[in-house]
Amino acid sequence: MIDTLGHLRIILSKIKRNLSLYKIKVDSFNEVFVEITSRCNFHCEFCPSDSLLRKKEDIKDEYMLKILSELRDKNKVIAFHVLGEPLLNKNFFKYLSLCDEYNIEAHLTTNMSLLTEEVFEKTLEHKCVTLIMLSLQTYNERSFKLRGSSMPFEEYFALLEKIVFNEKRIRSNCKINISVMNDYHCHNDELWRLFYPEEFWKFMNTIEKWKDKLFSQGSPEKSRMKSCGGNFYYGRLDDIPKDFYNRADEIHYEITPNLAVLVKHVGKFGMPDSFVNFLNNRENCQYKIKNIPQLFPFPCWSVQTPCVLSNGEITCCCVDIEGALSLGNIEIVSLEEAAKSKKRSIAMKHPILFETCRKCKGRLAFQKIKK
Ligand code: SF4
Ligand code: SF4
Repeated sequence: MIDTLGHLRIILSKIKRNLSLYKIKVDSFNEVFVEITSRCNFHCEFCPSDSLLRKKEDIKDEYMLKILSELRDKNKVIAFHVLGEPLLNKNFFKYLSLCDEYNIEAHLTTNMSLLTEEVFEKTLEHKCVTLIMLSLQTYNERSFKLRGSSMPFEEYFALLEKIVFNEKRIRSNCKINISVMNDYHCHNDELWRLFYPEEFWKFMNTIEKWKDKLFSQGSPEKSRMKSCGGNFYYGRLDDIPKDFYNRADEIHYEITPNLAVLVKHVGKFGMPDSFVNFLNNRENCQYKIKNIPQLFPFPCWSVQTPCVLSNGEITCCCVDIEGALSLGNIEIVSLEEAAKSKKRSIAMKHPILFETCRKCKGRLAFQKIKK
């Protein structure tokens, strides 16, 4: 019964999401992703970061100042996101101070490794920061090895626990999402073997124990913040379909109103050729992977959030990591001009016209390598 309801819920949410596209204005934006650095201190096998063709660099300070001035008092959100670890940019706190001053809401996505107690509390002190996405992704020692970090897993996981139980965070209105990646049965195969169902439920049971402890330590049961749970929201662990990892593409489990676990299926993201080649040339690669473009028309809601890459290129969406769908460079084009451009509107309504989009909505095909 839960299974059938779960299926129905997913189908309805997909219909709702596609219908919502027609309400989106194609000439404006509410949020912009900015890659303040493309450098990263991790080398995750599941990330195209290491196979990136463009330079690893911090965004020019003058570009950031231009972006922040344009967003000033406009009721828009800036998300420090795309590739790279934002905390490696030494100007990070300067940009947060400007967001405070200019009334710009800020979101941060981080691999967490540099989020010491001091850095975390300093981040929370900025009233502009309303959402922090912790890219935990790998919740066990085996899958953490895929991240190319010199940090031991216990140390990494302890960082998460410290963040969860930080006194200032418990009382903060800043929402923390813990991201977990699911590649289980990714198009009928396992791409990196990073999702282990049994160990996932063990992790969730740890989370459940944390939940009780958090309430006993004064975590508010209700918050002034609106939950951004979306279509796959669950408030009770028992309500999550036990085999969700095999079919649903997303889970949003609310631990407390300002803390959640978010599970996403990696198969939904497009992969540039350079990344597919990189995957195929790994030492222990068992498969040849092909990205097969699909030729049916579809609308794309991702284009509603333009991105500025670290080289200044403004691109249509965060999947386009090399900037093939560039709308111009921030050095000469404003965000507003990029948002109003014809190319963006076409990418949103007819993404099939672009090779990057056809691959993005394509299908990964696996072929076992004969030894
Ligand atoms: S931490 Fe994030 S940006 Fe860095 S390599 Fe891993 S997934 Fe990519
Ligand atoms: S279809 Fe195109 S615009 Fe949409 S998410 Fe993919 S690359 Fe981005």
